[in-house]
Amino acid sequence: MIIVMKAGASPAEIKHVTRRIDELGYAAHLSEGTERTIIGVIGDERPLESATFEVMDGVEKTISILPPYKLASREWRRETTVVDVGTTKIGGQELAMMAGPCSVESRSQLLEIAHAVKEAGATMLRGGAYKPRSSPYSFQGMGVEGLEILAEAREQTGLAIVTEVMAPDKVDLVSEYADVLQIGARNMQNYALLLAVGKSSRPVLLKRGMMSTIEELLMSAEYILSAGNYNVMLCERGIRTFETYTRNTTDINAIPALKHLTHLPVIGDPSHGTGRWPLVAPVARALVAAGADGLIIEVHHDPEHALSDGAQSLKPERFAQLVRETRLIAEAVGRTV
Ligand code: PEP
Ligand code: MN
Repeated sequence: MIIVMKAGASPAEIKHVTRRIDELGYAAHLSEGTERTIIGVIGDERPLESATFEVMDGVEKTISILPPYKLASREWRRETTVVDVGTTKIGGQELAMMAGPCSVESRSQLLEIAHAVKEAGATMLRGGAYKPRSSPYSFQGMGVEGLEILAEAREQTGLAIVTEVMAPDKVDLVSEYADVLQIGARNMQNYALLLAVGKSSRPVLLKRGMMSTIEELLMSAEYILSAGNYNVMLCERGIRTFETYTRNTTDINAIPALKHLTHLPVIGDPSHGTGRWPLVAPVARALVAAGADGLIIEVHHDPEHALSDGAQSLKPERFAQLVRETRLIAEAVGRTV
């Protein structure tokens, strides 16, 4: 951290600041300019509150040097993390293709979709048993029964299961069935939940909050990593903008930005990012071109009757087409599907 003193700060004020730096266990490096003095605080500044100094007489402002996250940063770990989920590796050369319905609605629905997405080239099966719905009157998911159906689909298809956990007290239960614990956009800053999945041994798919910055997403990942779980994948799922034609706005920038800032694999979700099925495949291609390590796509055999997110769900044959198109883009950027 750099502390910039006000022009005309007195020697006593400067001394007061350097003494406080000392007390906190850091070293101070003084640089006296012609107009101002700046003080470098030597050491890991992350535990420091900038207010500690900004309230002191003679201090103009503080400037952070390090990113506020550490374990999630590419500075801390240069190599991209490869997350092992069963036989699938996420973050390597091959793209992860997660697909399935928004919600598990019934045994026949999930099994039909699971076989169809497997056939089309999916490497993992998604499906929510606990659904974070904006309205309390909307379908809330099948709960444990949904988890059991997901486990049966895994047995039949061999596809690993990605499913959402919404509460800390459900982490153990969902972990019994899931291969990957999804943290939904609405829970990205539910710190109790982040710590709970941080203590789990299951890999985590952390979705970006719809009103969260890239840095906030990385700070949430830091919670999980700092609790001991290093198997974290990030997911760009679209953010709120002034645009209303689409449900959200896929932040394509976030893909290369995250790849630059963090070693964690990054997954793109063009289904929630657009909210409209005709836009899903084109945006999926853009996400892969931008460097995403995988996609998560909502697929339903009967979107008209889907209990959630039908408007953004692809029919299986359209998903198969998306996989074929994505393969071409993947090859162009040195990846495989
Ligand atoms: C979902 O994946 O169905 C979901 C609810 O996603 P998000 O948390 O990104 O809205
Ligand atoms: Mn959904």
